Amino acid sequence: MIRSNCTVRVDWENFRRNLRFLSARGKDLMPVIKADAYGHGLLRAASELSRAGIDWAAVGTVREAELVRDHGYSGHIVALLSSPLTKEEAILAAGKKLIPLIHSFDCLDAAENAMRMPEAEGLVLEAAIKIDTGMARLGFRLEELEQVIERLAACPSIMPVIQISHLAVADEPDEDAYTQMQFEIFRRAADMLRRQYPGMRCSLGNTAGLLSHAGIPGEICRPGLALYGGNPMYGTSREGDCPELKPVMSVSTRLLSVHPLRRGESLGYGRAYVAESDRLVGWAAVGYADCYRRNPSPEACMCINGVRVPVIGRVAMQMTCVDLTDLPEAPRAGDEVYVLGGPGNAVTMQEIATWWNTIAYEVICQFGKLREDD
Ligand SMILES: *Cc1c(COP(=O)(O)O)cnc(C)c1O
Repeated sequence: MIRSNCTVRVDWENFRRNLRFLSARGKDLMPVIKADAYGHGLLRAASELSRAGIDWAAVGTVREAELVRDHGYSGHIVALLSSPLTKEEAILAAGKKLIPLIHSFDCLDAAENAMRMPEAEGLVLEAAIKIDTGMARLGFRLEELEQVIERLAACPSIMPVIQISHLAVADEPDEDAYTQMQFEIFRRAADMLRRQYPGMRCSLGNTAGLLSHAGIPGEICRPGLALYGGNPMYGTSREGDCPELKPVMSVSTRLLSVHPLRRGESLGYGRAYVAESDRLVGWAAVGYADCYRRNPSPEACMCINGVRVPVIGRVAMQMTCVDLTDLPEAPRAGDEVYVLGGPGNAVTMQEIATWWNTIAYEVICQFGKLREDD
């Protein structure tokens, strides 16, 4: 279905550069390729991880884990969203050696029941045990862990292979005390679980944990945003902790029309823009149906031939107006307009996030929906 004029490109060479930069930080990596690899394409991302010899990957759903396995990825695949875990999912996971998250007694019940079924005969379900260290989202609390360990000990067909938890504020320098508290709870949980399962691995850090907290517990980190060239510490005093990241996604479209707008004339819905002087304007084929925000801040820009052009007027469903007056070369209908990335003074995902009053994660996840399937 062709419903957008936008072209989303993914620079896998830059993805590999980011992966190498993150690999050099001295931790094993479990790159996060959930949500279709943050919009960049799940299966291609999984192939890149195989090629780089990375043997842990984190996806969202068990179904995504299955797709990655069937695509040929042979490493460990953790499904971070495997809730609620159904019996079918648990058996599928055991059969394909996928690693669902067990984060609640409901999950544990489901996994135990599944592994008692005749179809599960001879199978072992590898599991990631999620600990709530302060996110209060998914996971067992420290005081529940003794009971979890007892239940697991009584069910040898469930094998915890990794302990996982997630950091709430690792990107915020002012919140370091909270992050340290999360580290401490994580360490205590690991002490308890490792008494029973000495070979169990531990993974706590996201991008910010990996890049900004040298003493982070757990030998495996799970970077997501940084792989795609985003900096979760953008705008904080930690911004410089990941200077070498390269942008991976770019989005472009075309100019549909170019024409003068004389002083005093208005433009678009609501006459939201009125020219204070003679302008040259153009309509680019991208709008809120193409995941562009309808109400970006007044600083919003796009880029033509490497030069920025301001967004003006009201963003429409499939069109947005840009002010072309200051371009050094006369623009024409059909010219390529970069919404994100591209050559020259490229617009970054962080800038768009600021103009949209959101975070870089949302920008790439949204634009990723326009990507043609692999
Ligand atoms: C999304 C996610 C990550 C990756 O976080 P980034 O900030 O993108 O590095 C890591 N762990 C869990 C549990 C996640 O959900």
